[in-house]
Order: sequence, then C-alpha cells, then structure tokens
Amino acid sequence: MGLSLEGSRLLLEGGAALGLDLEPHLPAFARLYELLMEANRRVNLTALRTEREVVVKHFLDSLTLLTLPLWEGPLRVLDLGTGAGFPGLPLKIVRPDLEITLLDATRKKVAFVAEAVAALGLKGAHPLWGRAEALAHGEHREAYARVVARAVAPLCVLAELGLPFLAVGGRMVAQKGPRVEEELAPLPRALALLGGRLEGVHPHSLPLLGEVRNLVVLGKEAPTPTRYPRRPGIPEKHPLC
Ligand code: SAH
Repeated sequence: MGLSLEGSRLLLEGGAALGLDLEPHLPAFARLYELLMEANRRVNLTALRTEREVVVKHFLDSLTLLTLPLWEGPLRVLDLGTGAGFPGLPLKIVRPDLEITLLDATRKKVAFVAEAVAALGLKGAHPLWGRAEALAHGEHREAYARVVARAVAPLCVLAELGLPFLAVGGRMVAQKGPRVEEELAPLPRALALLGGRLEGVHPHSLPLLGEVRNLVVLGKEAPTPTRYPRRPGIPEKHPLC
C-alpha cells in the first residue's frame, strides 16, 4: 500500500509550492498514510478518505505552518487537539529537531498517534492523553515555546485552552478556514484576560486546491492568571469572548 505514484507526486509538488523539499520524507509520509488508512478501518479517525484528500488536507495543510518564520529551533511545541496527529506528525517528520507533544482528549486518537510515533521511529514526539483544561494546570503550564492547533475550537475558546501552555514570549498558531473575521473581532477581550496579543493573520491558499486558509498568530506577553483555563467544558460553554 503506502502512497501511489500519483500521491507521492502530489506531495512533492505541494511541498515545493510551500518551499519544502519533501523527497527525503516520502517514505515516512507513505508509512503514515498506510497507518492512517489501516487504523481508519478499525476506528473512525478521519473523515478524509481519498489519497488526494489526505495528502492535501492533512499532510500539506499541516505543513503550511512552516511558511511562517517561527520555527528556528530548538523549540518545544504543543499540538493541542492533535486528533490523528495533525498538524503535529507532518511537522515532526519534516522538522525532527522540534520537540513535539501531541495532546488529545480522545484516547483512541492518542493511541493511534502513539502507534504512528513508534512505527515511524520518531524521537522527541510525545503523545499525551487528557483535557487541555486539566493539563494546563500541571507541569505543562507555560512550558512550551509554540502551541499549534487545527480545527479544535473557535479562537475565543482556543485562546483560553492554549495560551496557558505558552511561556512568556511564546507564540500560538491557530490554523483556520476562510472566514476568521467574526472570530477575530471579539478576540482582544479574551486575550487581555489571558496575557495574549494578536500578532498577525496570514492568509494563504492550500497547495493544489487553492482553498483559502488563515494562520492566526497569537503572542504571549504576560503570564496567564492561574484561574485560566477554567474547569473542563467551561471555556467552550461560556467563552471569554
Ligand atoms: N487537529 C486535528 C483534529 C481536529 S478535531 C486535525 O486538524 O485533524 C479536534 C480534536 O481536538 C478532537 O480530537 C478532540 O478530541 C480534541 N479536543 C477538543 N477539545 C479538547 C480539549 N479541551 N483538550 C484536549 N483535546 C481536545
């Protein structure tokens, strides 16, 4: 199995559009694809079924993060709500020097990520099972230089879940779809409570598909008050903005 010739070509072409040479990483992506498809037959990990969708919407979309000038290492990175490992696993494959923690609240998803980390022989990739609201009050608090999150929650919720993990001076990057304006408008209110700041919004189009995406960058300017994040479920139920 693995990736077809067509799938490999797509990945290389899309990578080149992002300024990345993915040739050395083709075997790892092929293996990841294989693991994902195999696991998806047992448990529902991803809605994406076709090879083209997985290559573009999982692999390449994850790698669009690397177009930002934020990755000069060594860095500790948290992938918050990684699901089946996105964007964390593609990031780790291309940038093995990044120390990445892959956090998700769903046990079966973390089990898959752990299986993939082992199968790919990734060192410095740490699957972590739990809720952000709980883990952000322990040893992981203010312990990361970067937090990344894709398709996890609206920005007002995500800011409360993610900023507590960042050390002061750190950055969080939220991968968002085409419409972010409505989410951005109220965001400063939440950021003021959390010690965060909106640093930038970087629109781009997804390689090969041309669909519009936005990378929203938040900076951590001051320690987050210890009352945040609030108890599990509260950030989503009563967002700060
Ligand atoms: N980032 C992946 C998965 C998105 S689905 C991707 O883009 O493909 C959102 C994931 O976030 C789910 O797997 C869910 O379990 C996780 N999640 C949502 N809220 C969370 C929380 N409070 N703590 C930990 N994980 C959370």
